Amino acid sequence: MEDDQLLRYSRHIMLDEIGIEGQERILAAHALIVGAGGLGSPAALFLASAGVGRITLVDDDVVDLTNLQRQIAHTTARVGQAKVDSCAVAIHALNPEVRVHRVRERVDQARLAPLVEHADVVLDCTDNYATRHAINAACVAARKPLVSGSAIRFDGQIAVYDTCDAQSPCYACLFPPDAAFEEVACATMGVFAPMVGIVGTMQAAEALKHIVGTGESLTGRLLMLDGRSMRWSEIRLARDPDCTVCRRR
Ligand SMILES: [Zn+2]
Repeated sequence: MEDDQLLRYSRHIMLDEIGIEGQERILAAHALIVGAGGLGSPAALFLASAGVGRITLVDDDVVDLTNLQRQIAHTTARVGQAKVDSCAVAIHALNPEVRVHRVRERVDQARLAPLVEHADVVLDCTDNYATRHAINAACVAARKPLVSGSAIRFDGQIAVYDTCDAQSPCYACLFPPDAAFEEVACATMGVFAPMVGIVGTMQAAEALKHIVGTGESLTGRLLMLDGRSMRWSEIRLARDPDCTVCRRR
């Protein structure tokens, strides 16, 4: 590590749980963030500030005025730009050392497969079930940990799915792909601005813990936040032995 890196990351290095070795792991890590909106903004900014060496951003959307209430990687001046480009500008302003790979596409499982393969950890920061299932299937196939978050209205959720852990379910164990779920989107339901910040920031925390290999992971647990009362609840998640996505063959 160079002198300016020792300074930049000094508050990580002085933590017993991270230290020089943990920070070296962060610098060498590659995170895949799918979705550069409300959740993806804080997730990308904290991974970048923490020094994650490579970040791949996936999003096909452009910055819209209605995004700015909560999508903090974007700015008024960048309305109309691709979200991956706008987010890359924000990342580089914060930490020019981070290598950003931008993928301005709506991705399916086939397109995700090589992106997931090259990542150490995957963050699902999307807002629709089809993409969530595609990300989950790609992560199960490549045996990569998936940090999944969502926020709508005053409700937030976060869980980690890691099928390298034999006890851990995958996203499809909880939300079967063939089941009909009501699609809820911020565009129609609204979302309290800090909810995406809270959840996206926690996704960054879980991703960094995985990279460093420290602490107790959120794997196999679903945390739910009611922002109205500011109360958390937690449920243990069980693997579905008949899950069509992660079932052992
Ligand atoms: Zn499963």
